[in-house]
Amino acid sequence: MKPAPFVYYRPTTADEAVHMLAEAGEDAHVLAGGQSLIPMMNFRLAQPGHLVDINFIDELDYMRAEDGWLAVGARVRQVALERSDQAAGAAPLVTEAMHYVGHPPVRHRGTIAGSIAHADPAAELPAVLLALGGDVLVRGLQGERRIPAGELFQGPLMTAIGPDELVTEVRFPRSPAHSGHALVEVTRRHADFAVAGAVVQLRLADGAIEDVRIALFGVAGTPVRATEAERLLQGASEERLREASDAAVADLEPSPDMHGGTDYRRRAAKACVQRALERALEGTGRGAS
Ligand SMILES: Cc1cc2nc3c(=O)[nH]c(=O)nc-3n(C[C@H](O)[C@H](O)[C@H](O)COP(=O)(O)OP(=O)(O)OC[C@H]3O[C@@H](n4cnc5c(N)ncnc54)[C@H](O)[C@@H]3O)c2cc1C
Repeated sequence: MKPAPFVYYRPTTADEAVHMLAEAGEDAHVLAGGQSLIPMMNFRLAQPGHLVDINFIDELDYMRAEDGWLAVGARVRQVALERSDQAAGAAPLVTEAMHYVGHPPVRHRGTIAGSIAHADPAAELPAVLLALGGDVLVRGLQGERRIPAGELFQGPLMTAIGPDELVTEVRFPRSPAHSGHALVEVTRRHADFAVAGAVVQLRLADGAIEDVRIALFGVAGTPVRATEAERLLQGASEERLREASDAAVADLEPSPDMHGGTDYRRRAAKACVQRALERALEGTGRGAS
């Protein structure tokens, strides 16, 4: 199928894009890499009357590692981050996650900000942003505001970004020294969306686990933090990994679908958490016993 008719806009500055979004109203969509939006339009699952194409806004094409953050402009393609030494040094978990996002042709067009704004509950990058405690910078006619990842994701494909707001930047906190990280997911084929997945970042101090952050994806309407598991692990040794993995999935009720039932997805998520914790610990230079 082909998309329903729409009016196409091609701004060359972020301010111009914001004005176009505001004038077009709720019926407008930002077009970034188009890797999610265009298929949805072709299937008529999305029928925006106005498309604001941000691919010609040069000021949104930047990556900066500064002040404890990796800041990524909204036009940065996923493949650019994947190949960036600067990104790998500042936020290696984000670089690792890129290998799980679709296939190279998808990553050549798809943007980091587009994946976050799209908010697919089975996508990797929203879970990474949540686990790391990042945020997005959005711009509207009223000015700019930062939305922390913990407030951003509101439901499947739903976020706190207003219809007249443009995400201009995604920020990932820099990885602390002596930390380990891992992303583990269960998929039917490599690069598919996850049946279940887990993202972990942690630090070891005097042999004890510190600053552990865990997010799960593919198992609820949004990515979710495993706060009870994090609490159990804080200051603990690796003997707690199994108990923490149980706690991470205890309250989950993943919807059954053709890839698996609720119980299967919960067990898959638990295995992902445990493996991600083990791998993250190995990354600190001290493997789980
Ligand atoms: C075959 C295939 C496999 C895929 N596999 C995976 C996978 O395994 N994991 C995964 O995470 N993703 C996967 N994807 C999705 C891919 O990562 C998309 O690139 C991404 O989800 C959306 O990024 P985009 O730049 O293409 O955004 P678009 O498709 O252009 O936009 C997506 C949505 O976000 C909004 N949006 C985009 N940018 C902004 C902005 N700056 N401000 C406000 N709103 C904005 C749009 O209006 C739209 O609603 C796959 C896609 C395909 C086609």
